[in-house]
Amino acid sequence: MEEKTKCLIIGSGPAGYTAGIYTSRANLHPILYEGLQVGGQLTITTEVENFPGFPEGVQGTDLMEHIRQQALKFGTDIRSGMITKVDFSQRPFHCTADDGTIIIADTVIVATGASARWLGLDSEKKFNGYGVSACATCDGFFYRGKDVAVIGGGDTAAEEATYLASLCRKVYLVHRRNELRASKAMQQRVFNTENIEMVWDSVPVEILGEEQKFSKNVTGLKIKNVKTEQESILNIEGVFIAIGHHPNTEVFNNQLELDAEGYILTQPGTSKTNIPGVFAAGDVQDKQYKQAITAAAAGCKAAVDAEHFLLENA
Ligand SMILES: Cc1cc2nc3c(=O)[nH]c(=O)nc-3n(C[C@H](O)[C@H](O)[C@H](O)COP(=O)(O)OP(=O)(O)OC[C@H]3O[C@@H](n4cnc5c(N)ncnc54)[C@H](O)[C@@H]3O)c2cc1C
Repeated sequence: MEEKTKCLIIGSGPAGYTAGIYTSRANLHPILYEGLQVGGQLTITTEVENFPGFPEGVQGTDLMEHIRQQALKFGTDIRSGMITKVDFSQRPFHCTADDGTIIIADTVIVATGASARWLGLDSEKKFNGYGVSACATCDGFFYRGKDVAVIGGGDTAAEEATYLASLCRKVYLVHRRNELRASKAMQQRVFNTENIEMVWDSVPVEILGEEQKFSKNVTGLKIKNVKTEQESILNIEGVFIAIGHHPNTEVFNNQLELDAEGYILTQPGTSKTNIPGVFAAGDVQDKQYKQAITAAAAGCKAAVDAEHFLLENA
């Protein structure tokens, strides 16, 4: 089956749904494909305290459901399913969904996000959102005055550790090698921060915690020294996994210009990709800020850019 639209939005995180609100209010009758993670990354967290408009905080799933309802209210045609193939070689663009539907779109907004990389431990899954996080900016505040561990050795880990050190009593930076991969400047910042303790040559084995009827919390991190094979326990209340992100751009390989890590390149200050009429918004093109509010703002910008593009190319 083939269908035509002025605007196809790929992704249902803050960027995708916000693009839906703006493009539907601009009468573009957008079609939005939600992908496997309906509502995006915020649906795997618990409380969100930094999204404006919710002084008491809001559950990630509730926030995303509110934004979804707002997009639906203005007429965004929201559909389950993935976009599995795109052809941006000519306009209108041809995009294929996993049920075989071909969407022929005058503009496309890519908002497929970037997934945090996880260690793959069962205990990590169990305590995700209850002491395990992949975002210090998002969750560091919950660990004020407490002891936490950061896992990783690159720039992200160094940055997360120094940020957390300003809030927490003590930060253990656990790295599997005996030197950091982070830039020299970042390393210096880490080494000069008194309450960061390096834990070299060590890998996490298990996240320890308590589970009550309605709550869970982390109480420690079991680690293993890879040289001595010796196991030990760090008494901490939060674990921040900082081993990188994976932009969801496989579908756009050879279709859009990506950077070395696979993030979509956009023209500075805009959502424009190298293909006129294709726009990118949110974590899929933003390695730096990676917040719900910045993703939502990027979704707005992409919608406005798509609208202007359609006017100019009517
Ligand atoms: C555990 C955790 C806690 C967080 N807490 C906070 C917080 O407190 N405050 C904050 O501001 N930020 C927080 N963040 C960061 C925030 O969630 C992200 O910055 C934000 O969700 C990015 O939005 P996005 O729309 O760019 O992408 P995402 O939210 O990643 O959404 C991407 C969407 O694309 C869809 N998709 C992917 N591929 C396809 C495809 N081929 N076809 C169709 N759809 C596709 C997915 O299903 C998903 O819906 C947190 C992140 C995590 C992981």
